[in-house]
Amino acid sequence: MSQPTSADPRSEPLPPADGPALPMPSWPQGVDLPEDLTQIVERWQRAERDLQAQTLLLRTVLDESPDLILLKDHEGNFLLCNRPMAQFYGTTPEAMVGKHDGDFGCPTEMAEAFRRNVQEIMRHGRTEVVLEESRDAGSGESRWFRSIKKPFAGPDGRMRILVIAHDITDVQRAQLRLEASERRLQYALEARGDGVWDWDIASGRLTLSHRWCQMFGYAPDELTGTLGDFLRCLDEQTRPEVDAALAACLEGDGRWEHEHAMCSKDGRQLWVLDRGQVVERDGQGRPLRMVGAISDISEQKRTRELIWQQANHDSLTGLPNRNRLYDRLHEEMVATDRSGLPLAMLMLDIDGFKEVNDSLGHAWGDALLQEAAGRLRGCVREGDTVARLGGDEFVLLLGAVTDARAVPRIAQDVLTAIKRPFQLGDDQVYVTASVGITQYPQDAADLDSLLRGADQAMYAAKRQGRNRFDHFTPALERQAQERARTLADLRQALKVGQFELHFQPIVDLRSGEVRKAEALLRWRHPTRGMVSPAEFIPLAESSGLIHALGDWVFREATRLVAGWRQTVHAQFQVAVNVSPLQFQNPDLDLEAWLAHLRQLGLDGSAVVVEITEGLLMEAGPEVTRHLLHLRDAGVQVALDDFGTGYSSLSYLNKLDIDYIKIDRSFVCNLQADSPELALCEGITVMAHKLGLRVVAEGVETEEQLRLLKSAGCDHAQGYLISRPVPAEAFDRLAAPVAELSVIA
Ligand code: C2E
Ligand code: CA
Ligand code: CA
Repeated sequence: MSQPTSADPRSEPLPPADGPALPMPSWPQGVDLPEDLTQIVERWQRAERDLQAQTLLLRTVLDESPDLILLKDHEGNFLLCNRPMAQFYGTTPEAMVGKHDGDFGCPTEMAEAFRRNVQEIMRHGRTEVVLEESRDAGSGESRWFRSIKKPFAGPDGRMRILVIAHDITDVQRAQLRLEASERRLQYALEARGDGVWDWDIASGRLTLSHRWCQMFGYAPDELTGTLGDFLRCLDEQTRPEVDAALAACLEGDGRWEHEHAMCSKDGRQLWVLDRGQVVERDGQGRPLRMVGAISDISEQKRTRELIWQQANHDSLTGLPNRNRLYDRLHEEMVATDRSGLPLAMLMLDIDGFKEVNDSLGHAWGDALLQEAAGRLRGCVREGDTVARLGGDEFVLLLGAVTDARAVPRIAQDVLTAIKRPFQLGDDQVYVTASVGITQYPQDAADLDSLLRGADQAMYAAKRQGRNRFDHFTPALERQAQERARTLADLRQALKVGQFELHFQPIVDLRSGEVRKAEALLRWRHPTRGMVSPAEFIPLAESSGLIHALGDWVFREATRLVAGWRQTVHAQFQVAVNVSPLQFQNPDLDLEAWLAHLRQLGLDGSAVVVEITEGLLMEAGPEVTRHLLHLRDAGVQVALDDFGTGYSSLSYLNKLDIDYIKIDRSFVCNLQADSPELALCEGITVMAHKLGLRVVAEGVETEEQLRLLKSAGCDHAQGYLISRPVPAEAFDRLAAPVAELSVIA
């Protein structure tokens, strides 16, 4: 029902304000009134007009008011009411006088309630404001009123009551809708497992949902309904942080979202995510009410922590991993920038770890790493970091180094700790460590160069013979840069034809004939001149270039041997050095090599492949397959640098080796009655028993050659006979060698 807005002439109890004036009271004709009586009459008439005008004004004000206004007597009967009130009951103001609510279709209980309310108010004589529901007679619709009920005594001394009812139906409906949606929201949140709260900030009243109580193990009647209920579930340590966050929220945009630990009644710790929002503010914008929901995220938190742990720690040793190390390093560098106290980084690698892994198996290798991790932790302070980079590489981070002497001392402790024997099952294993040290800020300005510097220093320690520590120096950095430049040049070298092969003759000690030569790779660098293979082969290996390079060597060496088979001897053989990495490569295409040989009109016997002892140690199925493939094609195999590694004799047999090349380090110390001579004799005897032939490398003197011959060596190679020479020079060289006096 809409508020009455237009005037309805039928309901007017009095003439409108602009109606005709009241007639003057008549007075007998011809009677003169005394002077003062005339004045009295005039005054009375004036008073009467004023009263009329005021009554009219009052009437108008009453009728134009949007509120329902009425006056009731002590029994609840209407004495007066305005037009909107009459319209609400579907009648006129006059028709309402003397009647009561029940006469206008108001339900009996409602009418009775109104009457009781009137009497109650009259009894205590105080003005009351009440919220009432009443029914519109026109539409039958129920409406809500906020009614002011003022009692006062009438002229007859009896009590009356003035009622001004303000229609608040729209507000009330909105309020009810809001409450309903709040309830729905609460159900939804509770269904999700969240506990809902409603905080009346001014009074401190806190209403907590059933689920909230359940979450923290309280029965609803154990709660006080105040903020204290929330606070007692917060532990001492969390409290200041939550207080501060809440204060910031109330002073700020009123949005609340905070993750913190709470405590249930039985002392269980819960991680919660508490979210809420200020929903009501006063005129000055101060928050009055806040509602929100709390969810138990303990499980998520545990999962998150587990994931973090896994992402930042090495599962084998439990130490921080590379990821975490970088974070820690960054933190420590920031701390150094603040405190000025340097930071030291020790990078270490376990020498001989690979051998342990290969000989005892991965399980024992892992056990060694775990034990080593524990020993390393024992070398540093509580706050220092020991991380595993991967494989057998570890890093120790020493923060805030106050005494510079502590760093080498700790490095020494690390060497000592790793040198102690490792008991792996029944085996006692001995390994050592190579340690590289860098310091921040003196050696490097950023994280990457700090790590790089430690790595360079560590490799320097390895090159210097292992089981030692070395400090980073600018020279190391220069060497590293040099290596990087060489590598860049190396990548181009094959394309632009900077490689060539030199050949060193291998003489047969019985006949003095040269039927074999070893192909040795040379790099003619445009600015540096000849670069030694000892320098560039490791670079080619670490960069993967070795595969293409090795391929070129094989094709070039066999191309040349095809010529020498024509000019020097029909059975001429070339020895080609093949890197272990080539053999470990599953993609090594030996068929293509063999096809190349056929194309040149050669059979496998034209080539000897030189392999190292290390390769045999690591002989996996790939290596064995490749070696046997070569054998089947008639290619022979020589074991290079014999005596420097740890070859086991059983390999020699299993893999069908044809030649053993005694390393130069034995040959150069050869003297009559020297242990080296005894060794050479021993090796030769053993080799011959196994059906192998022996080549001695690095023969530089006639004396050495004589002793080798007497020891039973089959072949010799060395500067005495010839230095490696370019292919063009080799043709000329091959013949005269046979005339060496010693051999004849
Ligand atoms: P290696 O296979 O042991 O080759 C023998 C090395 O000893 C050669 O060094 C040779 O010049 C040197 N030599 C020969 N006779 C004497 C002597 O009487 N006295 C002294 N002091 N040295 C002598 P080079 O040519 O510098 O090669 C070094 C190493 O580089 C080789 O050692 C080999 O391991 C590797 N290498 C050379 N060419 C190739 C190649 O084509 N492929 C692969 N993978 N490695 C190669
Ligand atoms: Ca060789
Ligand atoms: Ca050799």
